[in-house]
Amino acid sequence: MFIVMEEGATETQVESVIGKLVDSGFTVHRSTGVVHTVLGCVGPKEEVDPRAIEMMDGVQECHRILSPYKLASRKFRPEGTRLQVRGVEIGGPAVIAIAGPCGVESRELIELSAQQAARAGAKGLRSGSFELREDALRMLRDAADRSGLFVLSEVQDHTQIPMMSGYVDMFQVGSRNMQNFSLLKALSKSKIPVMLKRGISATIEELLLSAEYLLAGGNYNVVLCERGIRTFETYTRHTMDISAIPVVKKLSHLPIMADPSHATGRRDKVIPMARAAVAAGADGILVEVHPTPDKALSDGAQSLFPNQFEELMRQLRMIAAAVGRTI
Ligand code: PEP
Ligand code: MN
Repeated sequence: MFIVMEEGATETQVESVIGKLVDSGFTVHRSTGVVHTVLGCVGPKEEVDPRAIEMMDGVQECHRILSPYKLASRKFRPEGTRLQVRGVEIGGPAVIAIAGPCGVESRELIELSAQQAARAGAKGLRSGSFELREDALRMLRDAADRSGLFVLSEVQDHTQIPMMSGYVDMFQVGSRNMQNFSLLKALSKSKIPVMLKRGISATIEELLLSAEYLLAGGNYNVVLCERGIRTFETYTRHTMDISAIPVVKKLSHLPIMADPSHATGRRDKVIPMARAAVAAGADGILVEVHPTPDKALSDGAQSLFPNQFEELMRQLRMIAAAVGRTI
């Protein structure tokens, strides 16, 4: 933690701040400049609230140096996390694709989607099971098994975890649930990997703090996902924050994927954003693909036609190679 005293702060004020820090277990290094006195503080744990210090007389500003998340921090595992989802590695040299329709609309639809996704080179099948729930999950599982894919599906409430555990290889925590701490705590006790999507109004730090709940409970099989955030721009559904990818790579050891479908909401913008995500270092992409997007029951406008997904995968192979990865 470091503290900048106000210009003209008195010796009594400086001493009183130092006294408080020393009482809290910090060693304080004082540097007296021409204008400001700066206090550098090293402590066993940075448990003092910086705002409480800023409320003291003569203090201009106080900042933490350590991040408020620990287990999700890159320092915790500098080499990065690699995890296995049904034999598929995420976070290694290979970039992976997870594809599928927004929802499981019928057995035929999900079967065809799985075949098309696998043919184009996807490793996972994604879909929401919504109202159909267990029947839909069974269809998703069967279709994925027949095409050699793993299953990713959204869990919306902690009560769904036991039932869903029989069908999915990876739980998705949707953007609206990123700070549903009872759900995160329950998933932290599961052995099943979790994909945690960034909330539409969440900072990167808040995303990492949510991941911390999963890790703290013992589930280290966590993948983050950038899926667009809310800005003043209205042309696209959300604004895809490509810069979050290299930022997360620096701050955290957790793999990060990108979902250009929910980010842009428009099929014609999904392909360039997927390319950008891989170029920026994403460990994978999550894409909505539908056999007949114009007839989709949900998110049709952002779902790729199967031939577009095939073409995207072809392009991503070249981009991945250019940044030292495979797909
Ligand atoms: C989804 O991937 O199905 C989904 C609803 O995404 P998000 O939570 O990012 O909106
Ligand atoms: Mn969708």
